[in-house]
Amino acid sequence: MKLSNISVIKDLLGRHGFTFSKALGQNFLINPTVCPRMAEEGGAAPGVGVIEIGAGIGVLTAELAQRAEKVLCIEIDSRLLPILDETLGEYNNIKIINEDVLKVDLPALIAQEFPGMEVVVCANLPYYITSPILMDLLEQRLPIRSITVMVQKEAAQRICAPLGSREVGAVTVAVRYFSEPKVLFQVSRGSFLPAPDVDSTVIRLDVHQEPPVSVPDETLFFQVVRGAFSQRRKTVSNSLSSALSLPKAAVNQILEAAGVPLTARPEQLSMEEFAALSTAVGNWKKAANRE
Ligand code: SAM
Repeated sequence: MKLSNISVIKDLLGRHGFTFSKALGQNFLINPTVCPRMAEEGGAAPGVGVIEIGAGIGVLTAELAQRAEKVLCIEIDSRLLPILDETLGEYNNIKIINEDVLKVDLPALIAQEFPGMEVVVCANLPYYITSPILMDLLEQRLPIRSITVMVQKEAAQRICAPLGSREVGAVTVAVRYFSEPKVLFQVSRGSFLPAPDVDSTVIRLDVHQEPPVSVPDETLFFQVVRGAFSQRRKTVSNSLSSALSLPKAAVNQILEAAGVPLTARPEQLSMEEFAALSTAVGNWKKAANRE
């Protein structure tokens, strides 16, 4: 079945009485070149297990199944299950789970479904939860090699921005702590049914074996990163003071100890400077508790 052909899709959806849910980010791919390219560049290959988030009618799932050892697909919308039965019935290496990806036990699923296999994630993400999904996949330190995802163009620019550039945000630093992000290719809004109001970009995050910096307290590191970006146009010093409820004098001492200029803005900091800042905050807190 040609799952990227508009008349095939309309006939299929019509027969099943399916209507798109905007709330679930349902924009299905109709550009036939995108899914094969995503599957290839996402590393779907013999011996590899693939996790897909959001199957839709299975257009990417089928391309993944043709290349990979096994595909585990997590789809929240139960109305799509009978459709997927019809579109993917010919494949015996696909398992579909009707769950919310943010609620499933991914470490357990990976151990159960992909024993001894290299695992990658490949998905056209529902855009309303792009950052929560990416952070959830990364923070759990899943045994995965890479995450290849289609996201909104602006989200891709932010995620893949080089540190030191204007587009950097808290998500840029967090993603780079866990992985090396790379832009793969652009996808226009006309490649979807229904067409969204935004263009898209496919990116790949190659997951680090070890983070690029070592920090004594990861939770504090991410608090500092989020705090530093909490007021976009302000200096790190001002933002950290209000986000971490620390007196201004203490924050200045912390910045000095970390070797960060008092006038620095968060988008100017390197990964090493964020690490030094979080170490200095931890040291300051320890010293303050001892007083
Ligand atoms: N892969 C298909 C394609 O490329 O045409 C569909 C992509 S569509 C942008 C996003 C899909 O994610 C939809 O099928 C939607 O139902 C599903 N979805 C939305 N929220 C989800 C969640 N929390 N967990 C799992 N799937 C979700």
